[in-house]
Amino acid sequence: MVKPQRTQRSRSADRSRVFSMLSLSSVVALLSLGRVRTLAAQDSSAAFTHADSLRGANGPGRAWWDATFYDLHVRVNPSDSSISGYNAIGYRVLAPGQEMQIDLRAPLVVDSIIQQGHTLISRRDGDAYFVTLLETQRVASHDTISVYYHGKPRVARRAPWDGGYVWAHDSLGRPWIATANEGVGASVWWPTKELRADEPDSQRIAITVPSAIADVSNGRLRSADANGDSTTTYEWFVQNPINNYDVAVNAGHYAHLTDVYQGEKGKLTLDFWPLDYHADTAGKQFQQVKPMLKCFEHWFGPYPWYNDGYKLVETPHLGMEHQSAVAYGNHYKNGYLGRDLSFTGLGLKWDFIIVHESGHEWFGNSITAQDPADMWVQEGFTNYAEGLYTECQQGKEAGAQYIIGSRRNIRNDRPIIAPFGVEQEGSSDMYYKTGSMLHMIRQIIDDDVKWRDILRGLNATFYHKTVTGAEVRAYINRRAVMDLNPVFAQYLMTTQIPTLEYVLADSIVRYRWTNVVPGFAMPVRVTIGGVRQWLRPTEIWRTSRVSGAKKSGTLDVDPDFYVTSREYDRAIPDVSLELTNSRLRATMQFAGELSVSFASGTTA
Ligand SMILES: [Zn+2]
Repeated sequence: MVKPQRTQRSRSADRSRVFSMLSLSSVVALLSLGRVRTLAAQDSSAAFTHADSLRGANGPGRAWWDATFYDLHVRVNPSDSSISGYNAIGYRVLAPGQEMQIDLRAPLVVDSIIQQGHTLISRRDGDAYFVTLLETQRVASHDTISVYYHGKPRVARRAPWDGGYVWAHDSLGRPWIATANEGVGASVWWPTKELRADEPDSQRIAITVPSAIADVSNGRLRSADANGDSTTTYEWFVQNPINNYDVAVNAGHYAHLTDVYQGEKGKLTLDFWPLDYHADTAGKQFQQVKPMLKCFEHWFGPYPWYNDGYKLVETPHLGMEHQSAVAYGNHYKNGYLGRDLSFTGLGLKWDFIIVHESGHEWFGNSITAQDPADMWVQEGFTNYAEGLYTECQQGKEAGAQYIIGSRRNIRNDRPIIAPFGVEQEGSSDMYYKTGSMLHMIRQIIDDDVKWRDILRGLNATFYHKTVTGAEVRAYINRRAVMDLNPVFAQYLMTTQIPTLEYVLADSIVRYRWTNVVPGFAMPVRVTIGGVRQWLRPTEIWRTSRVSGAKKSGTLDVDPDFYVTSREYDRAIPDVSLELTNSRLRATMQFAGELSVSFASGTTA
């Protein structure tokens, strides 16, 4: 998804503000104790409701079964903004169970639930239906239940951010319909297992619309059959696992443009579905797709859905990463609706929605965070992908400038990682701050070949999988052969920006990190008196001699690092204790002078 221009004011946003205030007061309290701690998971889950847990947790009605196939059939009626249909849910039994949780949001209602010709009984708990199956399910068996439903689905007032159905009209007054429901969830328009950790292996999406308009959904079109009642059913099929929030209806008066991209895995079909009167404009703007694919295949590996194809579909909302049918509503402008989110001008050289939403095909759709608390995996890497695209197009320095410029959007209002199991997202800093963190980790690794191997390795290792953020962090640590956990904790779980404190006197520099999580020892690149070098600060003062530095030069932190710095202009006597290689070392240091050390054991 794209970041909204302003925070939505919804019930969940209100709750988030409470959470944010708790977080900030916790930060203040912890800072007063002289320590910054990680905040994400420890803030009260008491603010969350029973409905949040039903929605967000892998509860007893979910954990025993694995969704294998969704066979979704929906009739869309623009005349009264209603829908009706059914989803036949194929599943595999993982553990004995008889009660199954199916999610469908009011005001939609379930009409009946059928299994093997029998009508099943269910009890409703808010937007969850607990269905009693005919008998206790045998482990490893497969079966299907069909959930029939109808109603007027929630209307999205501010798609794609609030979520629901968009009943719009194009500029000629003709119906133009779309769904967008990343935040609110797919159950806002079809019955499903609303748990991101469980994706079906494949899915059919059969959408019936008035014959005057055409539906473009995910995957490949298998058939378009006219019915006897002036409607047409479009049967789309996705051959791969798909996030349920990615499944979409897009119905309007579309033109169809096709092209082919020769990619890493061979021939990739490109299908573009602009409104009919935008066909010429789209034909020009969508030429950006091939260089985008080339860049992302280079950095991330093959496009993840060769058999489902690549599509852009014009929508009445700004855009969404709908898998193999990316929603496009950027009005054929470069930038984000014509604006540059990096404030550098570099973002105006490409179409934000093509680049950002397509980047999600790798991070978000192929690699999916199991819990929205870890949305940094999708939005952070995709924000970083914007920088990489700028680099592919305009050079490495430009790519860095894009990321650095985008930092102006960072709020540091609350942690990026949110509480787990209650369907909560963290701060919108999941975009730019995570992108900046990844850019910084690339500097720390200091080896672009290795960094690219890591990005491609993530996509190969977690190809078509759902993941936890912890798995992604562990993979990067392992491949980088570094413990980056304090860096991840600092930037993802606190709102504090590390401060490099230093004292500079001629060729001697003393330095340390403050405002950091315990154990934070991120190397940082600086220029001292004209000499570029790495410092390896810890929370304890360290001293380095800078050979060749100009006298009375300054210390400048490399802007690739998202940190602050503070110079002490006078000598600060300090006694610090440092445990190095199991030896206790007492160090007395004065700015501008060499330190005097007393160590137990041999000198370090
Ligand atoms: Zn996004």
